[in-house]
Amino acid sequence: MNTGVAETKIKLENRWLDDKAYANWTNWKWQVSHCIKDIDTIERILDITIDPEERVQIQQTIDHFPMSVTPYYLSLVDPDDYKNDPVFKQAFPDKRELHITSCDMSDPLAEDTHSPAPGITHRYPDRVLFCVSNVCAMYCRHCTRKRRVGDIDSVPSRSELKEGLEYIRNTPVVRDVLLSGGDPFLLPDERIQWLLDELNKIEHVEVIRIGTRTPVVLPYRITDELIEVLKSSEKPVWINTHFNHPQEMTSTAKRALKMLAMAGIPLGNQSVLLSDINDCPRIMKRLVHKLVRNRVRPYYLYQCDLSEGLEHFRTSVGKGIEIMESLRGHTSGFCVPTYVIDAPGGGGKIPIAPNYLISWSTNKVILRNYEGVITTYQEPDCYQHTSCDLKCDTCNLQLKLDEAEEKSVVGISRLLADYDETITLTPTEVEVIEQEIEESEIDHSNGSDA
Ligand SMILES: *Cc1c(COP(=O)(O)O)cnc(C)c1O
Repeated sequence: MNTGVAETKIKLENRWLDDKAYANWTNWKWQVSHCIKDIDTIERILDITIDPEERVQIQQTIDHFPMSVTPYYLSLVDPDDYKNDPVFKQAFPDKRELHITSCDMSDPLAEDTHSPAPGITHRYPDRVLFCVSNVCAMYCRHCTRKRRVGDIDSVPSRSELKEGLEYIRNTPVVRDVLLSGGDPFLLPDERIQWLLDELNKIEHVEVIRIGTRTPVVLPYRITDELIEVLKSSEKPVWINTHFNHPQEMTSTAKRALKMLAMAGIPLGNQSVLLSDINDCPRIMKRLVHKLVRNRVRPYYLYQCDLSEGLEHFRTSVGKGIEIMESLRGHTSGFCVPTYVIDAPGGGGKIPIAPNYLISWSTNKVILRNYEGVITTYQEPDCYQHTSCDLKCDTCNLQLKLDEAEEKSVVGISRLLADYDETITLTPTEVEVIEQEIEESEIDHSNGSDA
């Protein structure tokens, strides 16, 4: 089998595998059961020595946020420059993780508060996040669910999963189920098969999404057997993976991606923007090019969340915008992910992009392109506004609604709608507004007295 250069190098040069282990290298279960969890083993495998003083602090970090690295992923580290290595930095603890700042939160996305059933986060109208596994092979140091890492007791039982499935079954608006975790692909094939079968039985579920980092940290998990399980789903399965750096795209990872793509599974990638790891337009461009060459569409670039102990990974938002500026127009459109900030407090994902609309008048917009050319677009004089009353049956546009009507419109769409009279969206917890309400109540009562 074709292995990565670094992978081959470590196997041959460091000779830390005996013959039996060598034969097992490509077995994902062997990889999982040989995950490296202590500093000594890291030192031995990479043939490095961690500074004794730092070692104490790193051990304290591990006591708080455990470490686990697959032998495969560790083999991608360049031992000669491990301190700057993007793989090492994502896998090996840093004492700065114990530095919790005042704005850090244990559950920044309020996933636990939006949870109507075990493992389910129902934040958006038509889709749910379903955490079906609390287990990961590699513990990403930048994990947004750091609060739960290594929390073995919370591995969802079959009956908990059934409760989650029951919620989906009883909630017809859910058309998209996003299986996440932990890593769903750390579950045994049979459990994945069962989950897919159950979801396939729910009529209103249209798509099943799986978020997994196994193609990056445990590519041997993508076996022929797993492919058969995924192919058995009548409903489309979409997979999102999590490459952060071009160094992670080894020949083994490529093989795993190819197997998934050849099974007809659309592949996407969600990267996290990480300080000193991938906060560079050139690295990001290299990464997205490697992704699309391997049939993976860059989907999201995440601003790093406010989870506890992640401050040293966070970049300015400007860095993300600079990266987006360097991609759009400069490379194929489908190489460009959407840069998002997942709003703290459960506000959901908010897209951020450079501004291309510079100004506008009643019939003209002023735009700039990626090269800095400023241009005009003349709007048609004849375009008539057609008022929408949501009566699609009588509309010329011929939308055949064969199912239940959409629920009431929310957000800015509501302000734009002809059929809704709302003219402002008012946050409910604003002091001034509460005061105004009180005052208007007083005015009103005075008025009625008179
Ligand atoms: C990210 C996320 C989704 C999926 O969002 P998309 O923009 O559709 O990819 C769904 N639910 C929750 C809670 C999420 O965090």
